[in-house]
Amino acid sequence: MLEVKELHKSFGSLKAVEDISFTIQPGEIMGLIGQNGAGKTTTFRIILDLLTADQGEVLWNGQRITKKVFNKIGYLPEERGLYPKVSIEDQILYFAQLRGKKKQDVKPLIDDWLEKFEVKGKKADKVKTLSKGNQQKVQLICTLIHEPELIILDEPFSGLDPVNAEILENGIREAQANGAAIIFSSHNMNNVEELCDSLIMLKDGKQVLNGTLNEVRQQFGRTKLFLESDMTPEELMAIEGVRKVQKTRDGLDIVYLTDPEAGRIIFAEATKNGYIPTFSQQPPTLEEIFKRTAGVNNE
Ligand code: ATP
Repeated sequence: MLEVKELHKSFGSLKAVEDISFTIQPGEIMGLIGQNGAGKTTTFRIILDLLTADQGEVLWNGQRITKKVFNKIGYLPEERGLYPKVSIEDQILYFAQLRGKKKQDVKPLIDDWLEKFEVKGKKADKVKTLSKGNQQKVQLICTLIHEPELIILDEPFSGLDPVNAEILENGIREAQANGAAIIFSSHNMNNVEELCDSLIMLKDGKQVLNGTLNEVRQQFGRTKLFLESDMTPEELMAIEGVRKVQKTRDGLDIVYLTDPEAGRIIFAEATKNGYIPTFSQQPPTLEEIFKRTAGVNNE
């Protein structure tokens, strides 16, 4: 289990990380979200002891993270760093050896890893001959090849097309099934919604959201209603607790509520003559929550 306790880190007068605490269990995937400069990379660097916190501590299975446990960690840094003139195979072997694996144990596994991640290139090819996305997949293999128990991925999805993003999602799920504790940062809320058991949102270094996806969404209340009925926008707007009505291209009304209780009144009104095809009252999506929490609301 990873325990992050009350971390603080300042750069001069800038508080980059302020009182951040969370835990990640084996087999759990956590998403770390937040705008550019929110403190995500700084948090990762402190966890990895690449930066020293001003205050707080990080424990892995009850112990401080030192070089001794480094072989159990897989880290994909934000700045990608492969050796362009080295072959794919030598690159992977090099990183595996750095993490304590024997060359002869890893060599027979390389073909399977390249196949699993659908890397377009032969293992003897130099890294610089690969496209950016394929280089990124090789770097992910270098991060995962030693089967780490704690996996920290800084923006692993950036630059990947939807097909490769799915390949990566599958790779992350496989590591989860093998019992790894995983944390990754992303600006793509779909990746976070699809993969994460729990999430943390940072804003100006502070933790502003923390919980399972469902807990975080429910915290915002069921304030969005998808409706297909005979009610007109004027009739809907006349109901107390309705903030805005928007028509979608396919004829649905999206009704934004200030009070989730207004949903019951709308339901009663909309169904007074019987059947309606759509009534779905939902909490905001993670993307909407992100924008609202970051203070940018274009709804
Ligand atoms: P992004 O999504 O853009 O990668 P982030 O959430 O990872 O952002 P960090 O890189 O952790 O953000 O940066 C948090 C804040 O700390 C930023 O204001 C950044 O400029 C500052 N910062 C980070 N590292 C240093 C450093 N070594 N020296 C001074 N300031 C730093």
